[in-house]
Amino acid sequence: MSDIHSHLPTTPIPHIFRSHETGELYTNCIECFRSLLDSETEYLIEKAFRTYPGFAISDTVFEYAICMSCAEEITKSLSRESRTRLEQYFSSGINLQERMKWTEEENIDFGKWVATCAIKGTRVEGLTEYQVVAHCKGDQLILSVFPYLIGEEALNEMGELLSNETLEIFDDFGGRHFGLPPEFSDKLRPRFMPVL
Ligand SMILES: [Zn+2]
Repeated sequence: MSDIHSHLPTTPIPHIFRSHETGELYTNCIECFRSLLDSETEYLIEKAFRTYPGFAISDTVFEYAICMSCAEEITKSLSRESRTRLEQYFSSGINLQERMKWTEEENIDFGKWVATCAIKGTRVEGLTEYQVVAHCKGDQLILSVFPYLIGEEALNEMGELLSNETLEIFDDFGGRHFGLPPEFSDKLRPRFMPVL
């Protein structure tokens, strides 16, 4: 995997992808606890935010880092139906070519990747709930189709594509790591963003 990514630009992991509590880098995989910073492990960071119109504040609803092998493991456990639907949703919604073109520009600013919903194009300022996903290695953010931001409208649509079996896997993930029973979950339930 690292060979495939070796030509991609990287940038030090910015504030938005650091721990809300400490402001530091995430150090361990939420599933297997392996160290993310001492090695060449590739990992994903997922965070969800809620904002309040008219106020310059946002809440971090949940946040975690997960190593690529755990992320792939969970993705494999999702129902085939959900995976196929999500793949179709992402491939028709995200402009992969445009994002890869950004990686070739001079003066790369990661902010461009998370300025709008990757599916709907809504600017982040117009969103009240959104989730961001980053692909990292050590203390570096790797720019490709990642990082991306998904706003509330697309999160809702994605939720509707999931089978009950897959929703149960997400609820289990949320319950184990965040202690949230499913009945308290809303569209920002700590759902895991599959590696497709
Ligand atoms: Zn892991």
